[in-house]
Amino acid sequence: MNLVRFFAVHAIILTPLLLSACQTTTAGGAVGAKRSQFMLISSAELEQTAAQSYTKMKTDAAGKGELNKDHAMLLRVQAIAKRIEPQTSVFRADAPGWKWEVNVLSSNQLNAFCMPGGKIMFYSGLISQLRLSDDEIAIVMGHEISHALREHSREQVSQALAAQTAISLGTALLGLGGGSADLANSGYQALIATKFSRTDESEADTIGLELTARAGYDPRAGISLWKKMMQASEGGGRPPEFLSTHPAEANRVEQIESLLPTVIPLYETAHRNE
Ligand SMILES: [Zn+2]
Repeated sequence: MNLVRFFAVHAIILTPLLLSACQTTTAGGAVGAKRSQFMLISSAELEQTAAQSYTKMKTDAAGKGELNKDHAMLLRVQAIAKRIEPQTSVFRADAPGWKWEVNVLSSNQLNAFCMPGGKIMFYSGLISQLRLSDDEIAIVMGHEISHALREHSREQVSQALAAQTAISLGTALLGLGGGSADLANSGYQALIATKFSRTDESEADTIGLELTARAGYDPRAGISLWKKMMQASEGGGRPPEFLSTHPAEANRVEQIESLLPTVIPLYETAHRNE
């Protein structure tokens, strides 16, 4: 995925707009998530690109017989998504109306994602190899959906574009050739294409826990999930792909524990109302 190159064509018209794009994508919820974000491209532009990528991924997987092969697993993740999707209204009024989609890819990768606009993919290896419970699947899903709600990809593309524009301007002003700018650009692209920032991760953990709890899934599964994930990375085998794109602070579990008093009452209320 090279979203920056895709959107770089916009950079030329963005130059006068660099100072006008701070906003926040979500309301704070019970957990509080109000960081101001810098955005240069529209949600619609990124969602269109994401939808095209998602469709291509499904077509390719179906061609190899790897799409939704395990029907029981598909029904399981779809049922969990159905309960979480309406809870997104706490953070964004528009999100329950997204064109949500959930599919399962047969793969021994330990991975999952939610593209901008609500296109979710689970890799079967994550569920089967880590023997995830429904509560743990819900934690992963809540985390992934939170990246989409907060539009972290859009933010990262925007930051990269701004840097690219600034580099182009600086290069022009200093009379430098294009070589150094290309190098800086490709470094930035590699960075954003490969992983979320630790700030993004912390936000996705925080918002995700609230979504999970409000959907009636036990937020304490956040602790067992991340312990399983870390054990898998220490076991001598291949580390979970999930952890390479979702880098976390060593104190991730402690952060989750500190949020439990806020989200457990939401879980208990949801559970009582079932
Ligand atoms: Zn993440």
